[in-house]
Amino acid sequence: MNNPTSFESKIRTQVKSTGPITVAEFITQVLYDPREGYYNTKIPIGREGDYLTAPEMTQVFGEVIAGWLIDVWQNAGSPKPFHFAELGPGRGTLMADMLRTFKSLNIPFPSIHLVEISPLLKAQQQATLAPFSIPITWHTEITTLPTDQGFCLMVANEFWDALPIHQQVNIEGNWVERRIGLEGDQLVFIPQNFDAIRESCPAIPAIVEQISNHLKINGGAALFIDYGYDEPKSLGETLQALYRHQKVSPLEHIGLADLTHHVDFHQLKILFQEAGMIVQGPTSQGDFLQSIGFMERTDQLCTHATPEQSSTLKTAAIRLTHPSQMGALFKMIAVTELNITHA
Ligand code: SAH
Repeated sequence: MNNPTSFESKIRTQVKSTGPITVAEFITQVLYDPREGYYNTKIPIGREGDYLTAPEMTQVFGEVIAGWLIDVWQNAGSPKPFHFAELGPGRGTLMADMLRTFKSLNIPFPSIHLVEISPLLKAQQQATLAPFSIPITWHTEITTLPTDQGFCLMVANEFWDALPIHQQVNIEGNWVERRIGLEGDQLVFIPQNFDAIRESCPAIPAIVEQISNHLKINGGAALFIDYGYDEPKSLGETLQALYRHQKVSPLEHIGLADLTHHVDFHQLKILFQEAGMIVQGPTSQGDFLQSIGFMERTDQLCTHATPEQSSTLKTAAIRLTHPSQMGALFKMIAVTELNITHA
């Protein structure tokens, strides 16, 4: 690698002095370092960033999800007060599309709580949501979400995939932690050769518990959408780095590329059930979106759109729902402490 960034040099120096670090330590530092971490220095989402998310592709995503959440709320008897909690709101686009839908259906705005770790994205969310002129509270932890603002509608798109994972590799029957060390001046995974690899995300159980507690205290439902797998999967590597819409090695473009992994929806489901929640799904994103009127809403918008807008809306619809694109890889689960039905 030529011309390492100063951040990369800092990590190399650290590895040189302390020895190899675990994959989870590496991801934590690369993403969350207070000064140079990816989430503190970059706006990752958008055409100028490293990747595009569903709400950035079409307003219909947020609109039909808002419809689903309104159904949940109305089925629960339209309890008031109620609040919205979004985990990892990105540029605030999903929340803006949802609030617009609430407004157009004459549903009162809930109070808004956003859990966001990135100061740069928080500033973007402030700008995106300013036109709604409603009070918004930002949090960096789920544990500070309010307990005095009633029923909770929680949503998170592509939140879980950003949490750091451990990797373990199997060599001749023994599992050992995969680490990142140095070969000469290059950062490398060690060991480099192995028979099998598995991953785990140690933050997930605590986060599931925090969310479940929040829903138990306040009542409510949560909808999670992310890419991942729903079959029990014990082996395989899913850690990936994206830099300007291209896959790169996680050890390249350090602090400049996003690092994510595929979410284990099977584990999420079991953990939420063990926490006493009712879980619907996992369902593929394609099936879920189609079941809540995504295609109909897209067609409706297209009848009033310019040919160019229509083409953008239709391309996004195919991208989000078609099994060969994001329709099957992305999944959703709904979690509630009430027995609600969706779609
Ligand atoms: N939901 C948005 C953004 C997805 S990207 C969209 O669909 O466009 C991941 C989001 O999670 C970003 O907003 C990122 O800053 C945030 N994030 C990542 N790790 C986080 C953490 N540990 N706590 C809170 N937010 C986090």
